[in-house]
Order: sequence, then C-alpha cells, then structure tokens
Amino acid sequence: MSIIVQKYGGTSVGTIDRIRQVAKQIADRKALGNDMVIVVSAMGKTTDNLISMAYELTPNPDKRELDVLMATGEQVSIALLSIALNDMGYHAVSYTGHQVEIKTEGIHTKSRIVDINDGNILEELNEGKIVIVAGFQGVNEENEITTLGRGGSDTTAVALAAKLQAVCEIYTDVDGIYTIDPRLYPGAKKLEYISYEEMLEMASSGAGVMHSRSIEVAEKYKVPVLVALNTGDIPGTIIKELDNSMEKSAITGLAVNSDEAMITLNGVPHDIKIIADIFTNIASKDINIDMISQTTPVHKLVSISFTLPKTDLYQATQLLDLYKERIFTFSYESFENIVKLSVVGIGMKSQSGVAAKMFDILAQNDIAVSIITTSEIKISYVINPEDQQKAIEAVAKEFDL
Ligand code: ASP
Ligand code: MG
Repeated sequence: MSIIVQKYGGTSVGTIDRIRQVAKQIADRKALGNDMVIVVSAMGKTTDNLISMAYELTPNPDKRELDVLMATGEQVSIALLSIALNDMGYHAVSYTGHQVEIKTEGIHTKSRIVDINDGNILEELNEGKIVIVAGFQGVNEENEITTLGRGGSDTTAVALAAKLQAVCEIYTDVDGIYTIDPRLYPGAKKLEYISYEEMLEMASSGAGVMHSRSIEVAEKYKVPVLVALNTGDIPGTIIKELDNSMEKSAITGLAVNSDEAMITLNGVPHDIKIIADIFTNIASKDINIDMISQTTPVHKLVSISFTLPKTDLYQATQLLDLYKERIFTFSYESFENIVKLSVVGIGMKSQSGVAAKMFDILAQNDIAVSIITTSEIKISYVINPEDQQKAIEAVAKEFDL
C-alpha cells in the first residue's frame, strides 16, 4: 500500500465548511486504499493574528514565547480536521510536532527539521488510521517548541514524505506554479513541471507559493512534489528532477519579492576586517542577508548596500547604530520600499545574452536598478516599487512568460 502525504494550507482549512470539504477529499483517497498522512496549516489568518497580538504587547516579543504562541494555530486545525474525519466514520488521529517528534535545530522562529521519528505514524497507519500532523512546528534538543519560519508547513509535509518514502501533494489556493504570480500578472502561464533547482531559486526569490526550505528537502531526498488547487480536481505542477521531457528555457519564471528592505552603509573604511566584523555581527543574529554590492573605494572609504528581510530591519539597524559610535565616518540609510525582481531559468547555464537582454529591457523602460546579483540560473535586480508593474510586463512580453 502506498503512503500519500498531503498538505492543506491555511485557506484550505480556513472555515469549518472548508475543513469538512478537505475531510471528504481525504476520505475519498483513503477509500481507494491509500495510507494517508495529512499536514495542515493554521486556519486562515490565524498565525498573522497571533503574531499581531504579541506585537501589540511589545515591538520585540521573546522568540521562544512567539513559537509557543504560533504553534497553537496548527493545534486547532489538526484537531478540527480529525474531528471531522472521525465524524464521517474514519479513524483519524491528530499529532502536534512535539508528539510526532519532529526534531529541529537552530533558533526560535526559524528552526530547521533535522529528523522525524516516524514510529508513531507507522503504527497508526498500520491500524488503518488517518494521521494528521501539525505543520510548521517541531521540538528542539532542549525539548522546546519551535517553528520553521512562515509558510513552514510545506517543509513539514515534504520532510514527512521523505522520511516515509511517500508521495507528496501540496494543496493550496492556487492551481499550480506559474511563470509569474498570476495576482501580479494575470497573463502568466501555468507550468506542468519545474525542476527543483529552478523552483528553489523561485521560492527563495519571493515566489510565495512554497516555503523554500521545503524545496531543498525535496531535492535532497528526491521527493517529487505536486502543487495543486485544494479541490484536487485540476492538474497542478510537479516539482521534480530535471529530465529530458522538460524544456530548458532561458527564463522559466519571474519572481517578485516585496518582503525585503535595503540598507546602504556609507563611509565604511576599505578594510576587509571591519567589513567582515559588521557582517559577522549581523549573521550572529541569524539575519539572512541576500544581495550585496560594494562600491570601489574613494578616499579609502566604500559604500555597501545589501538586502535583508523587512522583519529583521529593526534588529539590523540597532546593531549598526553601534558602528556609528565606533567609526566616525560611518553612517547608514535604510530603504523599506524596494522590490526585488528575479528571473530564473535553467537554460541560462547554456544560453548567453540573457543579462544583456534584461539590461536592454530595463533601459528601454527607464527602470533604475540599485543592486544586481547573479547565480548560474538567476539574475536579481532591486528596483523601485513604482516600476514593478512596468518591469513585469516588459519581461513577460520579451520572454513569453
Ligand atoms: N501557519 C504558518 C504560517 O502562517 C505555517 C504555514 O502556513 O505553512 O506561516
Ligand atoms: Mg504557504
């Protein structure tokens, strides 16, 4: 018998009616003879609401307590889904991350799954039960409740599928992976397949469909992942290893990220030890820096710009204030209003001229760029939010996205 791991996102379990609908879909698949393991997110906007309550109390809530708080959201949805299934005559049982033993490491609110004890789950499946696991949460070595970062239920599902050697199906409120987020560009095309590599770049560049860590886990353990609409009746997109059946386009997709901020450091002594010290300090707070660019020195001073999650801006600026006191030439500016545009395509590895074409498009449309970074299969640009729509449309048209 094959094990299927399905994940339902917050919208899919957002109301009691939707929970009942999801329960029916799970029951139908179970009735076909499959072993079902279900991961759910918190209902609707629950997690957002929990977080805002904490921030009503203080601008800097304790991270351990935030994890305890956020983990309650999924505890509600797993129990309700299990109640619905039991009422329909199926045997379902819900488990929190702690109970399953989803073991994590790393800091609170950004932990990573390191292992899962699948003993309980297999036992329950053997008894014919449907197992429902809370997404997004785990427990660390100190026995503390942890969470995996916003959107982390995807990672719970993929990690479970890897551990159980199961099929993984992610059900969400969009019907697959598009070349561009259709809410930003309604003409975007749905992809039948996408490689792990491209999806990872898309997800880490802000394509909000999947938690990017989930793609890393999928790629590492070669778990094919279906992303589809929560009704389960429309073909979605399969994320899998690149093979010959897949087209190697120069550009497969365009991701837009408005969740990042930019900081520009001015008057930094052109001394690698000082620069290293600044970035080591930022890294020690687990602030994930994304793009970086540095100017050539003028009077032995450089400017350095970098991007970071908006949510880490406060912490980063607090740290940088210390350098203002230490280095008299030093100052910084922070920009909360930026957009990062990334074009991703495996075909970039073999086709040249993509960067040139992109520059041409940006120039023709008068779009100013403040930072550019490239990888083998991605080019990212920081632009002004006012230029976002113009840029998306021009790129989509040129590359037929
Ligand atoms: N409920 C969590 C969040 O809103 C996890 C998830 O939805 O995947 O981020
Ligand atoms: Mg999600």
